[in-house]
Amino acid sequence: MKKNSRSKAFTCVVAALVLGLSANTNQAQTAGQPAPDHPAVTVQGNTYTPRSILARNMGTPEDQTTQFPPHKIIGDIYYVGTRTLSSFLVVTPQGNILIDSTYERNVTTIEKSVQQLGFKFSDIKILLGNHAHGDHQEGDALVKQLTGAQVMAMAEDVPALQAIKPGGKEHPVDKMLHDGASVTLGGTTLVAHLTPGHTRGCTTWTMKTPEGGKTYNVVINCSLRPPAALTPALVAEFNRSFKLVRSLPCDVPLGDHPAQYRMEEKYAKLRNGSRNPFIDAAGCRLEADIEEAMFRAILAEQQKPAQP
Ligand SMILES: [Zn+2]
Repeated sequence: MKKNSRSKAFTCVVAALVLGLSANTNQAQTAGQPAPDHPAVTVQGNTYTPRSILARNMGTPEDQTTQFPPHKIIGDIYYVGTRTLSSFLVVTPQGNILIDSTYERNVTTIEKSVQQLGFKFSDIKILLGNHAHGDHQEGDALVKQLTGAQVMAMAEDVPALQAIKPGGKEHPVDKMLHDGASVTLGGTTLVAHLTPGHTRGCTTWTMKTPEGGKTYNVVINCSLRPPAALTPALVAEFNRSFKLVRSLPCDVPLGDHPAQYRMEEKYAKLRNGSRNPFIDAAGCRLEADIEEAMFRAILAEQQKPAQP
């Protein structure tokens, strides 16, 4: 608890700094002009603004590139990302699946995490992504180069992915996926759900995983963070996506930034307790609640007549 409130306070203090820095380091989160920091919404007693959500997601530049202790989440799913950028490894008897390479400069860190868990980086056969922003998929070309993995991407995100070219490298796309597509390896199946809004091809991944004689529904949520300005097309996309994510069976919520599923808090419990803290059906809708409240508030502001 102490650590949490301390890190919360720290997050607030650095929020402004993070925004300034992330304008340079993360085209993903701040395309164009920095957004004004309103509206504010309160969900389950916590107040959020566009800037506080961004700071919560990204942390500091150091957080974005510092290894978080790799750990088993549940079943055959492992965390191999940094403190604030998620990367998940799904292990199967016929090779492994990596979801999100994050920044290219993080690929060696992800490789180290995979090895520390006792797996081989070269066993990654398929590389999937959350959405076509550099903080989640910039490293795809390097992962493919190092592992030979097949890169699969939601068709609607392909144009944005092709614009991500670290060091001039072409972004690899070996297979285009469409809404509802299944990706199967070694008896494990992930389903790709198109949940657009944050990007055109934002992909929510679902899978079932066994643990302790039960089967759990895992949902790796795509970002639902709305931009500062909403067009009618974006409004339609977000409306569809909020409805869809709320309909998915969910026991274990995960997300493209670990703060979306309170990873640090759960990880601390993992080390202390017996029950798997990542099983959190009650927390499955929290991120959608926060982002939908923000989306509705932005929309309401936009529809108000302009202030003189
Ligand atoms: Zn993004």
